[in-house]
Amino acid sequence: MSKVIKQEKQIQVLLEVANLKAYYTTEQYGIVKEVKAVEDVSINIEGNSFLAIVGESGCGKTTLARALYGAVDSILTIIDGKVCYHFDDQKYELSPNGNDLKNIWWERISYIPQGSLSALNPVRRLRDIFSDLANSHGKTFDEQKVKDHLEMVNLPSYVLRIYPFELSGGMKQRSVIALATFLKPDVIIADEPTSALDVVTQRDILHLLSTIQNQSKSTFIFITHDISLVPGLSNMMAIMYGGCIVEFGSTELVFANPLHPYTKFLLSSIPKIGDKTEKKSIPGNPVSLTNPPPGCRFCPRCPRGTEVCSKSRPELLRIDSQQHYVACWLYR
Ligand code: SF4
Repeated sequence: MSKVIKQEKQIQVLLEVANLKAYYTTEQYGIVKEVKAVEDVSINIEGNSFLAIVGESGCGKTTLARALYGAVDSILTIIDGKVCYHFDDQKYELSPNGNDLKNIWWERISYIPQGSLSALNPVRRLRDIFSDLANSHGKTFDEQKVKDHLEMVNLPSYVLRIYPFELSGGMKQRSVIALATFLKPDVIIADEPTSALDVVTQRDILHLLSTIQNQSKSTFIFITHDISLVPGLSNMMAIMYGGCIVEFGSTELVFANPLHPYTKFLLSSIPKIGDKTEKKSIPGNPVSLTNPPPGCRFCPRCPRGTEVCSKSRPELLRIDSQQHYVACWLYR
């Protein structure tokens, strides 16, 4: 069991994730399989943070985002551990025993999904979608308030009169961001919010998220496969591999002094102007989450792996007195 890590002892924790295990159960030709997508994740986040969770496709980061939002169902099950939000001396928890998080969707925690179009009802105009959101939370629909909010995310008020399919990709994403932030939640989870956008729109959306976070002081959890987006955006970052968090710390520290071999590979893959050195891919294939190795999940691809790595999974532990944690036997 990994130790729960805290950003600062004296700072109040807003989100506590402890020993979280979230697995998918699939059945094919009568054979039941477990996909161990989130394995023993423990991390604590304080308020007013911008945390980036980075990892390659299939590493479990979207599953972790779903668990943080409480979006579990008959396929995705919380096997062990918990996700717990602390708001105004109240606790809201997701665990194998229950899910309080659905009760605080939109007002305390909200979610920006990967595919923005799928988040918008295709047969409702934007005005109706905002009206539905307000009414379903016992609030009176105030069109002027919605227009002011749209202006904040750089959307013209005429979008209220049109259907989602009439919006460009960037406008759809801004509309989803406007919805996710409309009720002023304390935590906003954004799952690859820019992955389907061109680079110019991507830059605009990232700038918008950063501006909203600065103004609202909400906590943002930003999921991405692209580590180059993280500097200048997040103050904290977590690197995920094979369902586990392998490195966690302030963005500044992780970029200045990456510790985990996987983080080093990711950082060395970022293209730089004028850099003509050959970029090396990570050897081997991503780990199977249905049949992961018993020890460190990066071991089959790690150039520095030893016997202990193949047998025993290292815990995420703090390195010296700084906000920097790594799960690797090289640092024991
Ligand atoms: S624990 Fe061992 S195999 Fe895993 S990343 Fe560290 S050195 Fe490599």
